[in-house]
Amino acid sequence: MISSDICIIGAGPVGLFAVFETGLLKMRCHVVDVLPQVGGQLTEIYPGKPIYDIPGYPKITGEELVGQLMTQIAPFKPSFTLGERVEQVSRQRDETFLLTTSAGTVISARVVVIAGGLGCFEPRKPVIPDLNLYEGNGVAYSVRDPEVFRGHKVVIAGGGDSALDWTLVLAGIADKVTLVHRGNTFRGAPDTASRVQELANAGKLDLIIRAHTTHLTGKGKLNGVGVSLHGGDSLIIPADDFIPLFGLTPRLGPIAEWGLNMDKDAINVNTIDYSTSEERIYAIGDINHYPGKLKLILCGFHEAALMARSAFRFVYPDQRINFKYTTVYGINAF
Ligand SMILES: Cc1cc2nc3c(=O)[nH]c(=O)nc-3n(C[C@H](O)[C@H](O)[C@H](O)COP(=O)(O)OP(=O)(O)OC[C@H]3O[C@@H](n4cnc5c(N)ncnc54)[C@H](O)[C@@H]3O)c2cc1C
Repeated sequence: MISSDICIIGAGPVGLFAVFETGLLKMRCHVVDVLPQVGGQLTEIYPGKPIYDIPGYPKITGEELVGQLMTQIAPFKPSFTLGERVEQVSRQRDETFLLTTSAGTVISARVVVIAGGLGCFEPRKPVIPDLNLYEGNGVAYSVRDPEVFRGHKVVIAGGGDSALDWTLVLAGIADKVTLVHRGNTFRGAPDTASRVQELANAGKLDLIIRAHTTHLTGKGKLNGVGVSLHGGDSLIIPADDFIPLFGLTPRLGPIAEWGLNMDKDAINVNTIDYSTSEERIYAIGDINHYPGKLKLILCGFHEAALMARSAFRFVYPDQRINFKYTTVYGINAF
């Protein structure tokens, strides 16, 4: 079991900055995110886009800001569980919490900070009969370890960056890669699209455009993907794996089941300290709601600072908090 003063749910910019603000007050954090990497929406949706409203940075990309935040919190040595979703939060008799993730990891903490943003990003799935029966038996919505596909016949569907990038990567690993795309132009980076076209021209992968996937074949284990060509013909492509890459969509997920006072898909908080209806549970960043709420990174940073000062009394009930400027006391790292 992992034990920490504070468990932060969500490694987006606000969850990461909460590590800094709580660290200044000598509270240790464990951070959990369902995504395999830190950075929340910045890494998942717009890593290369410039952001213009971060104080002190006239212009910084999502990826750069996440890198700076990771550097800023490093002195406080946070621990991370990535690629796992927090499913349950249960209060113990001594008022601490046990959090359980989708992979069965258990975290004990005195305070829970929900920085869950828009929720968990889930893959957009194609409408194909019995798709769920093949999930884990040939159908995957992401590529964690490309080596898994070595020697396989792989069908990828999609026209964005992920579909193009993984087509290029797997073309060098799999026995055969087929990319199926509805349109005749790609949404992904033009350079990548050109390289895919070049490999297709050289016979190193199969590119089927103006077509969509219709059904899967196989008994329990995938062995083919049905494709309908927009000209009228249809075919079945032999396949060990089918990877539809149509992007991700956020869903609130299990947070909605934790008995907190909610406003639609957001958690109602008290703006004095961003506490929720449950003592010792706070909600900061895009996940919370209060009159005048702005879903901006800088607003989440402010919320993290106030939350940290309030959470201090639960971690150090016998101590008084002293307000200290970092210019005077430094960061007082662990
Ligand atoms: C295209 C785009 C452009 C934007 N531009 C700007 C801008 O210019 N300036 C600005 O200030 N803001 C901008 N925003 C908004 C900004 O990205 C958000 O305000 C910010 O990401 C909120 O940070 P967060 O940490 O609260 O949440 P998020 O970044 O959403 O991170 C939340 C994390 O929580 C995780 N999570 C959720 N539930 C669970 C669970 N149960 N278990 C484990 N993990 C969980 C998610 O996987 C996610 O990684 C933009 C947003 C978009 C989409």
